[in-house]
Amino acid sequence: MSLAPLGASSTLRDFARAVDGLPSTPTMPVLFLGHGSPMNVIEDNEFSRGWQAVGRNVPRPDAILCISAHWETRGTFVTGMERPRTIHDFGGFPQALFDVQYPAPGSAPLVNEAQAAATSQHIGVDHAWGLDHGAWSVITHLFPNADVPVVQLSLDRAMSAQQHFDLARELAKLRRKGVLVIGSGNMVHNLGVIDWRNPDSGYDWAIEANERMKRAIESGDFSSLVAYEQQGRAFQLSIPTREHFLPLLHVLGMKAKDEPVKLFNDRTVMGSISMTSVQLG
Ligand code: ZN
Repeated sequence: MSLAPLGASSTLRDFARAVDGLPSTPTMPVLFLGHGSPMNVIEDNEFSRGWQAVGRNVPRPDAILCISAHWETRGTFVTGMERPRTIHDFGGFPQALFDVQYPAPGSAPLVNEAQAAATSQHIGVDHAWGLDHGAWSVITHLFPNADVPVVQLSLDRAMSAQQHFDLARELAKLRRKGVLVIGSGNMVHNLGVIDWRNPDSGYDWAIEANERMKRAIESGDFSSLVAYEQQGRAFQLSIPTREHFLPLLHVLGMKAKDEPVKLFNDRTVMGSISMTSVQLG
């Protein structure tokens, strides 16, 4: 018989519940989504329909871990708030886009699981960020009811591309905890030379880099993508800064052996952006 007063044991139970992880599940798919313009949130187009189709076809997750191009930090963090705010981190778009809210809850169990899975480094818990448009602009098409908890994982500016890939390898075990991992960026992303007048276009170098990236993804040659800085002019022009490319390395780092790879939304737009997206599993 326990001699602990009732109050103490219920506190212990609450604590146990709070640090509980997520139940084990069959392995969930992993997605890299080329998010492109925020206008894809409110436009009905081939890309938004592509994301909606994925939402219908993947098993319903217990939680989502999103690695967005738009959250870079010193150190690695996950969002720890119960109700992450919808961040409208863009300018010059119609009011209708600023009116969109995506009130998905956070997930303390996923925060715990991510911290436990990362053995090579400490993942901090952030209470200031929320869901940026890299996350909610695509997740709103997959799960429009905002009823799947979402946690964001930040991109540590100090980590090398290899370290990002290696961290993803550690976090891959979340796939067996009902977690849908979504990397959100763009494989080719050069805003400096965007061709606003030709929305359906792709520069030669953008198409070349996109094709070479697809071949590397399909053949499992991830080391050449981790070493993207050594891949010549087409890659240099396509990845002038790495934040939209790194989420792809996170996704590829989670790939299981002999797992099917599906490409979709596979097109360049506005000359210098590729919307090409990847589903593993
Ligand atoms: Zn972006």
